Amino acid sequence: MSELPALRPETDTHCPYCALQCGTRLTGDRDVGVKVEPTDFPVNRGRLCQKGWTAPDVLAAADRLTRPLVRGPDGRLTETSWDTALDTVAEGLRRIRARHGPDAVAVFGGGGLTNEKAYLLGKFARLALATSQIDYNGRFCMSSAALAGNEAFGLDRGLPFPVGDLRSARTVLLAGANIAETMPPLMQHLERAELIVVDPRRTATAGRAKLHLQPAPGTDLALALGLLHIAVVDGLLDQDYIRRRTRGIEGAVRRAMTWWPERVESITGVPVSAQREAVRMLAGAEAGAGDGGAYVLTGRGVEQHSRGTDTAAGFINLALALGLPGSGRGGYGCLTGQGNGQGGREHGQKADQLPGYRSITDPAARAHVAGVWGVPPEDLPGPGRSAYELLDALGDDGGPRGLLVFGSNPAVSAPHASHVVRRLASLDLLVVADFVPSETARMADVVLPVTQWAEEEGTLTNLEGRVLRRRALMAPPPRVRSDLQVLHDLAVRLGEPPDRYPAVPQDAFDELRAASRGGRADYSGISYERLDTGESLHWPCPAAADPHPGTPRLFLDRFAHSDGRARFAEVEHHGPAEDISPAYPLYATTGRILAHYQSGAQTRRVTESNAAAPEPFVEVHPDTAARSGLADRGLARVTSARGSMTARVRLDATMRLDTVFVPFHFPGEGRANLFTHPALDPRSGMPAFKVSAVRLEALPEA
Ligand code: SF4
Repeated sequence: MSELPALRPETDTHCPYCALQCGTRLTGDRDVGVKVEPTDFPVNRGRLCQKGWTAPDVLAAADRLTRPLVRGPDGRLTETSWDTALDTVAEGLRRIRARHGPDAVAVFGGGGLTNEKAYLLGKFARLALATSQIDYNGRFCMSSAALAGNEAFGLDRGLPFPVGDLRSARTVLLAGANIAETMPPLMQHLERAELIVVDPRRTATAGRAKLHLQPAPGTDLALALGLLHIAVVDGLLDQDYIRRRTRGIEGAVRRAMTWWPERVESITGVPVSAQREAVRMLAGAEAGAGDGGAYVLTGRGVEQHSRGTDTAAGFINLALALGLPGSGRGGYGCLTGQGNGQGGREHGQKADQLPGYRSITDPAARAHVAGVWGVPPEDLPGPGRSAYELLDALGDDGGPRGLLVFGSNPAVSAPHASHVVRRLASLDLLVVADFVPSETARMADVVLPVTQWAEEEGTLTNLEGRVLRRRALMAPPPRVRSDLQVLHDLAVRLGEPPDRYPAVPQDAFDELRAASRGGRADYSGISYERLDTGESLHWPCPAAADPHPGTPRLFLDRFAHSDGRARFAEVEHHGPAEDISPAYPLYATTGRILAHYQSGAQTRRVTESNAAAPEPFVEVHPDTAARSGLADRGLARVTSARGSMTARVRLDATMRLDTVFVPFHFPGEGRANLFTHPALDPRSGMPAFKVSAVRLEALPEA
């Protein structure tokens, strides 16, 4: 068993937030305070956003969880010992399983967990709990593009090229990705490119674009089909590339040909001239266009729809038709959101996957992983429910009666939040492992205080598939344990062999490498030693006699399907799951802002973030506000068929007249997810956060 490395006076690690994983150097300690500086890491090259600079605030949060809590007979959470807390959890899990069977216990993970935690969580669920009921919050933010990428290319890695390649781009189309706010250091790589931004809002990113296409919410796929239509009619397809490297363009074109530009304008609101200019810019057909490459990059705005997989596929079709993916002079990529959104979906915390990014229904994959785990393949459960389906089933007949949550805050981040909160409240046992008392932790029967980024070792995989070392600067507070230690301790209490659940990160990683060997995301050639010498390693990186250099660029010679060719998808626009009506006449779309991250559990504890964005707001066009009787800076109620939230009005003349925007980082009555729609993409299970039909009403000041 490995030892934890000694703590260092100065530590090179990475920001705890988004998938860019900017390089940082930490100095100081808990007593004098932790200072952060950016390093010259390839993705951030000496820059950080506000969230990165202020991340140490969360280490010193006044309400940091430092002792286990158990809910007593009086209904209050009270401090207790680790033994009492873990015994309570183990006894509760045993009781539920005895009464209702193993699938009555569920696990909910997170896209911010390290690779080691994601791996051990999946193993713990499937062996120690013998449950199929495990999924994670990454289902909410990447699963549609991941599925579309797997189907198109045979392999999903957010960006199949390093972000540095974008520096030579001539044109970049950003669809549903506001990187100027969500990943600001990434903008430096796009300084020389002409940007086309597809977004219903004039975001900070759209403000820097040469061309902003502003479609009505939920019509992105109609726009993608229309752009392909123009490329076909204007003779801009890369016929040689299509012939050599793809299959299935006929079906994609058949669908696109019914989306002529005027029809697309009538549905999306994007003028024909702007559609045409976008295609010509991407194809390099503009007068004076240089020979730099073109890229199509998608984000949550494309994915979080009831047909998000098809919408992502529509943009992939466009990129393939123009000959971009794997060409070495352009490409397609998906901008993963959460810190370990990429690694988090590769190591087995998804309902349908085993480590190595393997399908849980593939007999060969089951045999391999079972062999590494030392159990017969038939002992591994099958696929479980996707994240929202799992939350929706909690406490129901046949649904889970007990839930363990690691690294997630679904009471704020899940759609139709009031329903999810009722489901959480109906459980026999809710256990939350976290480092701050999130809104979900406050509902728990047992709260387990765990380490955070600057107190722990591990690895994460950023949006480029680059595997990174997280390194500890300082020890955690005295009674705080690592998530790995918690899983180990719980497994032992449930009668599992202690050596089956490595509590030391390097040991967990070495086991993960073996489990991933031969899989789609093969980490077997990556080690802590190689990473600690400064090697930059992108998966796949198989074990080899001569150390494999990793794969920064995928698909240059062939795609990952057995015949080496990419696949077009035959997709059709059907509109959003919920459309506007006289009762709910406006589209509401939700998203992130510069100051906050995800459910806000961390950044709402940061002074600068609170100063910049202290309360929920709704962005509204002044004419729309006037029609609803709203005043700038006044309070408004935003109501859908699911419920209402309260927000401060911000007038913005760049908003569409039919659309309002609400950030989703705030709790309580300010939760955007009180109005969001729980419709799921039928193939990826991703919720349709981006389109809800709402109405606005003015509220008096409290
Ligand atoms: Fe952290 Fe992302 Fe900001 Fe970089 S861009 S500092 S990784 S939040």
